[in-house]
Amino acid sequence: MSRPIRATIHLSALSHNLDVARHHATHARVLAVIKANGYGHGMLRVARALAAADGFAVLNVQEAVTLREAGFTQEILLLEGFFTADELPLLTQHRIATVVHAQWQIDALLRFSSAVNIPLWLKANSGMNRLGFQASEFPAALDALQHAGATPTLMTHFARADESEGIAGQLTCFNAISRHAELPRSMANSAALLSYPQTHADWVRPGIMLYGASPLPPQSAAELGLHPAMTLSSEVIALRNIKAGDEVGYGGTFQAPCDMRIGVVACGYADGYPRHAPTGTPLLVNGQRSRVIGRVSMDMLTVDLSNIPEANVGTPVTLWGEGMPVEDVAAAAGTISYELLCAVAQRVPMLEAA
Ligand SMILES: *Cc1c(COP(=O)(O)O)cnc(C)c1O
Repeated sequence: MSRPIRATIHLSALSHNLDVARHHATHARVLAVIKANGYGHGMLRVARALAAADGFAVLNVQEAVTLREAGFTQEILLLEGFFTADELPLLTQHRIATVVHAQWQIDALLRFSSAVNIPLWLKANSGMNRLGFQASEFPAALDALQHAGATPTLMTHFARADESEGIAGQLTCFNAISRHAELPRSMANSAALLSYPQTHADWVRPGIMLYGASPLPPQSAAELGLHPAMTLSSEVIALRNIKAGDEVGYGGTFQAPCDMRIGVVACGYADGYPRHAPTGTPLLVNGQRSRVIGRVSMDMLTVDLSNIPEANVGTPVTLWGEGMPVEDVAAAAGTISYELLCAVAQRVPMLEAA
């Protein structure tokens, strides 16, 4: 009928993974992070599957307005705040919450008279050195907002929550500046949510775990009770027998050590599959583990069929998802699951499954 590649989104996996997050952080509200088009799964689709979340975090005001217009009434937070002051009327109009991480944003809010209606999340830099006020600047920033009538939520973000003992310094810093403020607080991403209960506070902010990928490799998603929300699949479209010494693909980077049977799969880097995935990157052919061989091309890649004699044109291939953890593919390709999920190309048809 058509080119066989597709991304299937498992809606019940999304809601199951939200339950896992709630099970770990029973006393916190859950702000489901659905930036980057729901980590590549489709923002509105994900929001509908996670409608039980207490709120959503997105990147920009257009995404937030799209969610409001789709009928979502819970908290919607701009994770990097507004980018220019002229976005503020939209924020009030749609009651969109914003991170405040810089003095110019406070100045803009104080100049804008209806800003008191905007829920604010004041961000501290506790050591990642990306966004947020320094510990030394934080009290004055908080003072300015409270003086203007705001009751902000206090937040910070961890740089190393996926490493053992990765949060200690940042947690100490954030506790020191926020503990006595008697305001809601938020720290935990997926890794902290699963590893460090002392970071749960009032709001947790899981992202990657909701999509069923492990935030704590080498611990697997399955071990954490998470179900993959996306399966990227395709089919074998050609087969060939090659002789020992034959080379495969651009650059001839794979040379057959013996006579072997190989297959061509309709999936390439223009579909979002990583071009830097080397020979040996795992995938499933007819449900059995095999490997990529040679370089990934724009629209195709090549697989080893030595141990899969039944493989033929039309045999199903799972690039990642059910049975093939995306973090294993990412590890082989020298990246992280986040990047692979976000990169699935527009041209890949996306289907929904219960
Ligand atoms: C993306 C993001 C998250 C979610 O992180 P995961 O590792 O995907 O759980 C949480 N908080 C902030 C500020 C983020 O930018």
